[in-house]
Amino acid sequence: MIVTHTIENTRKAIRTLREKNGRLALVPTMGALHNGHLSLIKLARQHADFVVVSIFVNPEQFGPSEDFNSYPRDLDKDLEKCKNAHADIVFAPERIHVYGEKNVLSIGIDSLNRHMCGGSRPGFFEGVLLIVNKLFNIIKPDIAVFGQKDIQQFLIISRMIQEFNHDIELVMAPVERANDGLALSSRNAYLSDKERAAAPGLYRSLQYICSMMKQGVHSPELLIEHQKSELEAKGFKIDYLDLFSLKTIEPVHTLHKGSAYILAGAVLLGNTRLIDNLLIEL
Ligand code: AMP
Repeated sequence: MIVTHTIENTRKAIRTLREKNGRLALVPTMGALHNGHLSLIKLARQHADFVVVSIFVNPEQFGPSEDFNSYPRDLDKDLEKCKNAHADIVFAPERIHVYGEKNVLSIGIDSLNRHMCGGSRPGFFEGVLLIVNKLFNIIKPDIAVFGQKDIQQFLIISRMIQEFNHDIELVMAPVERANDGLALSSRNAYLSDKERAAAPGLYRSLQYICSMMKQGVHSPELLIEHQKSELEAKGFKIDYLDLFSLKTIEPVHTLHKGSAYILAGAVLLGNTRLIDNLLIEL
């Protein structure tokens, strides 16, 4: 496994891999790798001959009051995990390597980011697109693997690939969960024992609402409000918990057979923000 930090060395390492002919997959991450990330690397291996993992805590996608400084970082451990997962290259740049001294251009988003995390984290997806677009241009993968855990990110990147004409196949990895259902996340490391014990409540609420929808509830609003109150009573602060159209990421109030939905929530337990979602096709 080759570890690179600069764009120049990364391109050199990729040129050498490309000489062997084969499909190249990219798995972008912010490090503090857990089994969710490793499942992406595994899936990438199934779709490609070579796998590049990027590890970069992207400052452009954090708001001024968010956890950029405290975000967990452990490059040595991450490299060990990437090696065990048979990654070929790990690109772990510093900020200066990808952004230089100053960026003057940005990528604007007109829709798809008005709700869910885009609604509550202004500038977040613009920052995500900036780094992902750069990674696509630096690495030029045939395939890129992203997780359903960040479904809105997946959909916006899918749109960027289409509109910016990147020749990249996007692959979605399912959500990896702990035994009690909590979606794995680097931020779970922030949770106290008590918060960790409560945390799977979000997934349980999503599952309950989903099961009622599948049983024929046509207007899930009341159901959702009730689950919000239950979660609040257990100490969760709700950022959002709602049903969205998979196509537009706009909230949906009445269900239609044959349509696809995202049932998604973002909550705070103490200071830790947790997100989760289910994809529902009726
Ligand atoms: P992050 O390091 O949090 O930016 O995540 C990097 C990639 O891993 C993204 O595509 C995420 O959607 C994905 N990911 C994060 N957590 C999970 C999980 N529990 N299961 C599957 N994929 C995940």
